[in-house]
Amino acid sequence: MTIACDFFPLANAGIRGLKPYLPGKPISELERELGISNIIKLASNENPLGPSPMAMAAVKEQLPETAIYPDGSGYRLKHKLAQHLAVDAECLTLGNGSNDVLVLLANAFLSPQTNAVFSEFCFAVYPIATQSMGARGKVAPANPEHHPMPLGHDLKAMAALVDENTRLVFIANPNNPTGTWVSPDHLKDFMANIPPAVIVVIDEAYLEYATAGQGADAVKWVVEFPNLVVSRTFSKAYGLAGLRIGYCVSHPQIADLLNRVRQPFNVNNLALAAAEAALDDTEFIHQSRVCNEQGLQLLGEGLRDLDLGYLPSAGNFLLVRVGGQAQQIYQRLLESGMIVRPVNNYGLDNYLRITIGTADQNQALLAALGQAIRDGA
Ligand code: PMP
Repeated sequence: MTIACDFFPLANAGIRGLKPYLPGKPISELERELGISNIIKLASNENPLGPSPMAMAAVKEQLPETAIYPDGSGYRLKHKLAQHLAVDAECLTLGNGSNDVLVLLANAFLSPQTNAVFSEFCFAVYPIATQSMGARGKVAPANPEHHPMPLGHDLKAMAALVDENTRLVFIANPNNPTGTWVSPDHLKDFMANIPPAVIVVIDEAYLEYATAGQGADAVKWVVEFPNLVVSRTFSKAYGLAGLRIGYCVSHPQIADLLNRVRQPFNVNNLALAAAEAALDDTEFIHQSRVCNEQGLQLLGEGLRDLDLGYLPSAGNFLLVRVGGQAQQIYQRLLESGMIVRPVNNYGLDNYLRITIGTADQNQALLAALGQAIRDGA
């Protein structure tokens, strides 16, 4: 029996008001609930090809090291990344997923006296990280639905919200959950006009999927703009979501500050070894990109055949306009063993977010979706 008590008044005000992050439904949970197997999960923008084979081999080799602490400084991976990105190793901060890096930035720079600016329909972790520091989140209206980049970031509206108490601006490019992007020219223009004491975080979790003109590859601007931080992850195109590893590139002084707040061993042995190997696995990254491009096309065609609209996407997912029955369609898909992502928690009640799968998974999704719509969900 639980003893009745109330710890809520004791918690920090920002945390009391938080709504927890809602992840995609795990496959094991649906298996337990429905007693079915062969479930297809297209809900968390994971890589349908699995992990990089070179990373998997490195993990196997690293397993006997599990009893010892990892190198907390991540020396080897940082030096490899530095070479890969043509930056100094001292500009790098490793994280337990790029999520960790985003939280470190909030820990280092936000307080109840300050604010962070982000867009409507941005990645849910930005408001959570901001609010948990007791800071204010200033939400810029997104582009309207009829805009060429519907529901995407409006950089002018974001710049207009920056004031003397703004410490961080979060921009995901490409953005999740919309899939939309901002052009390199617009982004550079934004950087040139933002006060130098405001740190701009460009979150490039999906950069590897963006094609020419879509992704900005902002790492090359970090020298020119000392207030720019670029975060990236091994969770998506490298297929290492379960290992939790990401990083950011910044001015060395920002990296120094982040290093003060991170856990001493925030990235584990297996993840460090896997990421190092994955960087060499250019063939796997190529295959992942090709699979995604083909999947985007196939899914796009299938959705048009079903008369469903979707947003332009530079990521490995599509935000699909399914209408007022989104929740019912989500449920019907679950019953047929397909997990997609409801986005009503983002205020996108008429949409579902669908990760690009393998060709077979995409076909199965289209068939199940068509059936759910024909059945009137
Ligand atoms: N940024 C964006 C835009 C994301 O969509 C995600 C994952 N959903 C992350 C960061 C965090 O990913 P991870 O912690 O796995 O690197």
